[in-house]
Amino acid sequence: MAQQSTDVVAEAGRRRTFAVISHPDAGKSTLTEALALHAEVISEAGAVHGKSGRRGVVSDWLEMERSRGISITSAALQFAYGDAVINLLDTPGHADFSEDTYRVLSAVDSAVMLLDAAKGLEPQTLKLFDVCRYRGIPVITFINKWDRPGREALELCDELVERIGLQPMPLTWPVGIAGDFHGVLDLADGSFVRYTRTAGGATLAPEERMDATRAEAEEGVDWHRAHEESELAVGSGGEFDAAAFLAGTATPVLFGAAVLNFGVRHLLDLLVELAPRPSARLDVDERPRALDAPFSAFVFKVQSGMDPSHRDQVAFARVCSGVFERGMVVTNASTARPFATKYAQQVFGQQRSTVEVAYPGDVIGLVNASALRVGDTLYTDKPAVRFPGLPSFAPAHFATARPADLSRAKQFRKGIEQLESEGVVQVLRSDLRGDAVPVFAAVGPMQFEVAAHRLEHEFKSPVKLDRLPYTAVRRLADSGQRGVVDGARRCEVLTRTDGAELALFEDEMTMRILLRQNPELALEPLVAEGA
Ligand code: GDP
Repeated sequence: MAQQSTDVVAEAGRRRTFAVISHPDAGKSTLTEALALHAEVISEAGAVHGKSGRRGVVSDWLEMERSRGISITSAALQFAYGDAVINLLDTPGHADFSEDTYRVLSAVDSAVMLLDAAKGLEPQTLKLFDVCRYRGIPVITFINKWDRPGREALELCDELVERIGLQPMPLTWPVGIAGDFHGVLDLADGSFVRYTRTAGGATLAPEERMDATRAEAEEGVDWHRAHEESELAVGSGGEFDAAAFLAGTATPVLFGAAVLNFGVRHLLDLLVELAPRPSARLDVDERPRALDAPFSAFVFKVQSGMDPSHRDQVAFARVCSGVFERGMVVTNASTARPFATKYAQQVFGQQRSTVEVAYPGDVIGLVNASALRVGDTLYTDKPAVRFPGLPSFAPAHFATARPADLSRAKQFRKGIEQLESEGVVQVLRSDLRGDAVPVFAAVGPMQFEVAAHRLEHEFKSPVKLDRLPYTAVRRLADSGQRGVVDGARRCEVLTRTDGAELALFEDEMTMRILLRQNPELALEPLVAEGA
């Protein structure tokens, strides 16, 4: 037992579990592939989606996904890098992202914020960064596409401070302006790392490291400029400070070009060196569950219909403590029921392979997991444990849902219950609208499409969705004030299944007017809540 406990702590210490947060097109798939190229891929779970004919592991569980060429599902790619084991969790990166994207961030220890050098911070990146900040997840910044014309390095650094109050701590500085990228000044030792292009970045880009004297002779004015700019950036509070990174107030910054493999190795090295490893997770009573306690994990994603030949459901869980061994019988803390893990796997989609052991920080996919829900805790042996449930996020899209075929009303109800328990959509109701006409609420409109597709194909009860014009949402602090909102125009109160009373407004202006007329009305912002 003592031996096993040392092993668990050592194995957990090798893990780096992270996700890439970015706006569509910033280069997340390209970076994922580039990272994997540097490493020995152990298993892939639909993390890399094939685009433009590149190698792709497609988690094509939905026809919709296939036809659009996007990855709706989140899963993990695991690879060894030196002595480290890297778990890269996929954050679905299409334009209409959903709650799933946010939930993935509850299962990581750090994040890489990927920016397009020409665009800087973009809307989706900002939303995801907010969640990282809320959860205290340290962020490493990778400024991508430096091989293309883009903005100034200093300007991009300033944007981090000005827009999100995040102090950049450059670790490298580009030599040559965006579009004419020669390599980077490594601020750790003042050397120059020159990159050489390989055809299409398909193989590892050779890196040549040289000392400052030679770099100065060969790079001349570009070298001087890199020096001056980086001194400015470091001088304005950007000196490297590991504690500030871990506290989430500062971010190490690297410059590169994922498509050419520039800077990718540095990113991996940084993750290994600096990114937090798995640590004891707090349970609902805020007691830490030691890494070497018996097995525990929590479910952060549930996905249905991955194998069209039989209706199955896979629950993705992050291991928090102990060793997972396939075949283990674990207890679901929500129901106190046992769950057999005969069918645990890391790879799915076209090729399935079985996972035999997993350690804290790893992600396991549990097949035939119809009893598992997002947020559930799994454990084995005493002491029992329950981790906090996952938060629900502020919905921004709303639609009423009615069965298109009234004779299928029962299946419709059952389907909605199932979709809600999986967290596909949030479900809101009110006496005014009646129980039979629930309102779907979602972070991204894609969630409606997924819900509609599944109601039709899985529950054989097509749905008629009618979008509601609301764009602003707050939580009603005092249910006694419900009448104030319900009595006004262009707004209403709906109750979510978890009991939260959400006040929906057509726009912020409508809300502000109502607040002016009713100063006693207490509305709370709703970013992320629950956990
Ligand atoms: P995702 O939507 O974030 O997954 O973005 P992709 O990885 O699919 O990349 C979007 C586009 O940007 C593709 O055409 C990539 O080839 C391109 N791209 C990604 N990284 C780089 C880079 O470093 N330099 C250049 N020039 N293009 C890149």
